[in-house]
Amino acid sequence: MKSALQTTHEVFGASAIRARHNRLILNLLWKEREISRAELARRTGLSRSTVSAIVNDLLGTGLVREARNGVSSGGRRPVILEFQDQSSFIVGIELGATHISCVLTDLRCNVRASWSAPAPVRDEPEVALKKMTMAVRSVLVADGVERSQVLGIGVAVPSPVDDERPGELLPLIVPKWAGYNIATHLYESFKRPVFVDNDANLGALAELWWGAGSSGKDLAYIKVATGIGAGLIINGRIFRGSGGIAGEIGHTSIDSNGPQCICGLKGCLTTFIGAPALLERAKDKLRASGSDRPPPGSIDELVNAALDGDPMFVEIVQYAGDKLGVGVANLLNLLNPKAVVLGGGIARAGDLLLDAVNRTIRGRSLSASIGNAEIRVSGLNEWGVAVGAATLALEAALETPSLFHAESIGAL
Ligand SMILES: [Zn+2]
Repeated sequence: MKSALQTTHEVFGASAIRARHNRLILNLLWKEREISRAELARRTGLSRSTVSAIVNDLLGTGLVREARNGVSSGGRRPVILEFQDQSSFIVGIELGATHISCVLTDLRCNVRASWSAPAPVRDEPEVALKKMTMAVRSVLVADGVERSQVLGIGVAVPSPVDDERPGELLPLIVPKWAGYNIATHLYESFKRPVFVDNDANLGALAELWWGAGSSGKDLAYIKVATGIGAGLIINGRIFRGSGGIAGEIGHTSIDSNGPQCICGLKGCLTTFIGAPALLERAKDKLRASGSDRPPPGSIDELVNAALDGDPMFVEIVQYAGDKLGVGVANLLNLLNPKAVVLGGGIARAGDLLLDAVNRTIRGRSLSASIGNAEIRVSGLNEWGVAVGAATLALEAALETPSLFHAESIGAL
């Protein structure tokens, strides 16, 4: 988070201009990976001497190096500068309701080490915080990376996140976390900047930056897990709403006489297709059929049985798609995004889920809002949300380049 003092300093005076130029050059270097000083000057409209001064500073930080000579266009052969993806590293953590995943990435968010384990995150904050610290240590050790080489730690949490209190989870959704602050805990353990956001928001961010195909600047990512949340990207930025609650699609009621939800409302989407509800449905169906098969213990098992063609589980995935389609249809009518990406365990069912979602949507959305929308399952792997968390830190550093330099971190 920027302090008010820092912002004022940046808005007024020569240092603000210098900071803006720095940002322009660094972002172009990151985006192009390889580029000459002359090309940087041409693309940014900055003078050659300004570009040279900034590049000299960057060479000193190790973020950029002179890679080789390029092709001459008449005069001297230009030196090609290369952005150094491995000059520092990022930690990305996904706190699920019942698991923790953690990745160590380079500055292109390529995963270099990973760690994942079940954890009682929702119900036992103390245990979760300890495991989270252990997870970070273990990915650092696995790749031989020192704490000082880490640019920042991004964390995805299964709760809305208020910009004003980014380390705290919303007690309404995760009551046991009242009084805990994830950002403070991680900062005290690792002394690196910490960035926290909602898990669906970070799934959306990962889709925007690294997802298959171009989804454009407007997309929605729906994470269907223990809870259901939508991350909304509007005009290339995460849309959080005024208190961080935007996208809580899991708590939109689709049946006012439906089951009681933890949030106090009745018939929320989560009460029908959140993981506990779907597993309960599987158990009921098995019991009703007189089968003595053990019910699936996880959504993964349920999806595997459906993909194997077991009609009972195929029906459950289709049921989930039907209900999810109601949420997607409302989203399409409300925001008209270019893409809606479905993530979370159930999304592994692929077309089985998508076909049911699409059937429901056709009956519920304005044809104009469906017309140009691409609805697909996420192509990111199981580390997608953790990589989204790392992306949050990368995005912050590209926005505020001083974050890249370890020596200035203490001054933030
Ligand atoms: Zn609810």
